[in-house]
Amino acid sequence: MKMNIKTIGILGGGQLGRMSALAASRLGMRTHIYCPEENCPASQVTDLFTCASYENINKLKDFATSVDVISYEFENIPLEAIEVLSGTKPVYPDANLLMVSQNRLKEKDFLNQSGIKTAPWSPATSAADIDRFMGQQKAQNCIIKTSRFGYDGKGQIKHSIKDNSADNWAKLNTNEAIIEGVIDFAYECSVIVARDVFGTIETFPIALNNHKNHILSESIAPVNLVERFGPAHAHVESTAIDMATTLAKSVNLVGLAALELFVAKGGEVFANEIAPRTHNSGHWTMDGCNVSQFEQHIRAISGLPILKPIAHSEVTMINLIGDDVKTLDAYYGRADAAIHLYGKAESREGRKMGHINLTKPLEKK
Ligand code: AMP
Repeated sequence: MKMNIKTIGILGGGQLGRMSALAASRLGMRTHIYCPEENCPASQVTDLFTCASYENINKLKDFATSVDVISYEFENIPLEAIEVLSGTKPVYPDANLLMVSQNRLKEKDFLNQSGIKTAPWSPATSAADIDRFMGQQKAQNCIIKTSRFGYDGKGQIKHSIKDNSADNWAKLNTNEAIIEGVIDFAYECSVIVARDVFGTIETFPIALNNHKNHILSESIAPVNLVERFGPAHAHVESTAIDMATTLAKSVNLVGLAALELFVAKGGEVFANEIAPRTHNSGHWTMDGCNVSQFEQHIRAISGLPILKPIAHSEVTMINLIGDDVKTLDAYYGRADAAIHLYGKAESREGRKMGHINLTKPLEKK
């Protein structure tokens, strides 16, 4: 095969952009990061960097001229920017999936239309919609979420039948929301899927995810769900993989996407959210798999074949959030700890500073 030396354009300069740029570099490719913030994590490792806003049409066009293909590392990129860029260079994943993932109502509708089960949900534009939903579902509580710009538990309120719905609606401070039934889940997990330009689809082993204050704190993968949760969970991984494969097929995905899931005690699997990008719960792949999620994404969007992921180690990925970086000393001397820091100068509450992959080689079968 001919060497495939491309310049990859990435919108967004956070840690996902940084780790994607590093993966591209390993494949001999160049990256151009576009981000409104100077000295963002990805700017420190990229070949080319443009610091400009996503509304700056001229800068976006210049950026497009300098690259072969464009991707993004977070989903709240204005669609108008993607439209400008799509006219000039391929943008992966394409605008349709991005649009769906930007709006929780569109997202849940799309998942259900694709035959993927979610929590019961309903759109809401007023407090009366909350009361109506609670009545229809005969529910004691529900979760109300802004339809857009929610992440890490922001933009959502747990509502109980004892609460005043007008107060909670006012607190949410939005015109458009989604109301969801509360899934009494036993655990949360996620599955990452990639599809390349040849139509090959591959999934990574699922990750078991633990959150603290709504932020991912730890992912474990690969994971034996039957050992942990009992025989009712024997089908969970294959159900999750089927859901992610359906998603990839139905949008003709090129690149990588993550599907976040809730699993009930009895083994029922519900999809919660789609991320049309690399995902925090996939960081374990950097030290546990033959191919990392970042390399898989770069392969997919640059026209290389993706690989079948094969795990060689069991990984516990620990996120370093805010002052967790102070625990780093405990890891520097450990041979089983792969340290990944994102180059952020200051730690702040809730800020993802890096992650540690604690690895344990899997026994050969
Ligand atoms: P989200 O912003 O939708 O990813 O939600 C953040 C977190 O809130 C999830 O990781 C869950 O822990 C919890 N959550 C969100 N929606 C639901 C739901 N419908 N049922 C139960 N827990 C939920």
